[in-house]
Amino acid sequence: MKISIKLKLSIVLAGLLIATVGVLSQLVLQGIERNQRLAVENELAKHSEIANLRARQTYLMYERVEDRIFLQRRGQELAMDISRLSGLTVIIYNAEGREVGNSLQLIEMPSVEDTLSYALQGKTAYQISGESLVYMAPLYGSSGQIGVVQFHYSLKSNQAFYQAIERLFLTAGLVVLVAGFLLGYVYFHRFAAVIYKLRNAAESIRQGSFLKQQPIKRGDELGELSQGIFYMSREMEHHIKAMEDEQRKLKLAIEKLQALEQQQKQFIGNISHEFKTPLTSIKAYVDLLDMYRDDPKLIEEAHMNIGKETERLHEMVEKVLQLSALEKYDFEMQPEPVEIKELLLDICGRMRGKAAKFGLGLEISLEPAVLWADRESLMHIFINVIDNAIKYNVPDGHIKVQSEVDSGRVRIQVIDTGIGIPEEVRDKIFEPFFTVNKDRSRGSGGTGLGLSLVKRLVEKQRGELTIHSGDQQGTIFMITFPIDAEKFTTSKQAEM
Ligand code: ADP
Repeated sequence: MKISIKLKLSIVLAGLLIATVGVLSQLVLQGIERNQRLAVENELAKHSEIANLRARQTYLMYERVEDRIFLQRRGQELAMDISRLSGLTVIIYNAEGREVGNSLQLIEMPSVEDTLSYALQGKTAYQISGESLVYMAPLYGSSGQIGVVQFHYSLKSNQAFYQAIERLFLTAGLVVLVAGFLLGYVYFHRFAAVIYKLRNAAESIRQGSFLKQQPIKRGDELGELSQGIFYMSREMEHHIKAMEDEQRKLKLAIEKLQALEQQQKQFIGNISHEFKTPLTSIKAYVDLLDMYRDDPKLIEEAHMNIGKETERLHEMVEKVLQLSALEKYDFEMQPEPVEIKELLLDICGRMRGKAAKFGLGLEISLEPAVLWADRESLMHIFINVIDNAIKYNVPDGHIKVQSEVDSGRVRIQVIDTGIGIPEEVRDKIFEPFFTVNKDRSRGSGGTGLGLSLVKRLVEKQRGELTIHSGDQQGTIFMITFPIDAEKFTTSKQAEM
């Protein structure tokens, strides 16, 4: 059975109080009893002295006779005399223990043989029975003990006083017991309330919900305990959060690693597949040439196709190497101030011929801006994107290359009126070897690696690449770069 702490403490307090009252009452009652006995003994000792004096006086007053005969004759008179002087009932015995005088004949006496035989040997003795005390002392004559005087003393008032005090302590004990228990219960109730709060706090920590409220303010050990629990809870919460963060990071890292592994597998699979196609074509022409060595038409066709496939293979090898260099090593960037308008003008000038070949118009609208970037990478990015705008355009289509400066960034857009990129594959076109239409891509000499390279190069330069749909048709490639003005100052300072 579970007994609450406040009940236990209240019982202990009440027990302690009642024990204190009990011990105190015992000591007081024993003291009273001892005092009463001493007072009675003293009083009776005095009475016995007076009795002896009176006996001697009486003996001297009358004729000199033998002690035994003196008591025989004067015993009754002496008993009356001593009774009058002491105010007590008195009995006188002679040396043989026979009653020779009694101040109150009618009194009923308890058996006193033992006490009397003591007193006859010259000793003072008394016995108590009920409310009365029978006190006996030797009576002396001229030549020694002549008998015994007995006083009959009532202990009624002494016993009444003792019992009254005893009752008082009993009542006080009961009151102290009840009051102690009630007071203890009320006091420990408040005390226990704090303990219950701490218990609940520990329980909620066990269930994983940490403390939000401040610790209980008390200047004692409970206050300290409450503070301890509060800070422990905070520390635990902190550590668990840190652990959870670490776990989350670890999980993310594992997921990333798995995705990377998957990507690598796919990449290698794609490489082997993409490389096989031109190689199969080349091998087929070589076999045909072995069979028909003198066919000038076949030689012409094989020359052209082997050249095209070799060119494609070469381009693929170049891009794959570039891509893996970007992935694996910290790609060597050589940043320098690049005038973006000039760079784009240069690129557009080079691409204009190809655009014209396909019957496409190339419009330019450029704002001057200087970027802190790697020139080679920028060239690669824009050549690829403009080349795609030409490759995936429609007859009599149009291409616009524009750049503008806006809140510390340069935004370059390559807008074409081509076949467009379906919304659902926009995320995928940055994956190596991904093409929307394999035939079209192959037909225009594409490898599916261009945009994945472009995306990585843009990100290496802390830029952003997004794809949007054109107004009516076609695609917009939007690339933005930060202008990093402070880089120019630092580089200038370095030059000086
Ligand atoms: P590819 O060498 O095949 O051109 P890219 O990585 O440069 O490879 O482009 C991936 C694919 O994205 C292309 O095969 C093509 O389907 C699509 N694409 C790229 N640019 C454009 C564009 N301007 N308009 C339409 N489709 C495009």
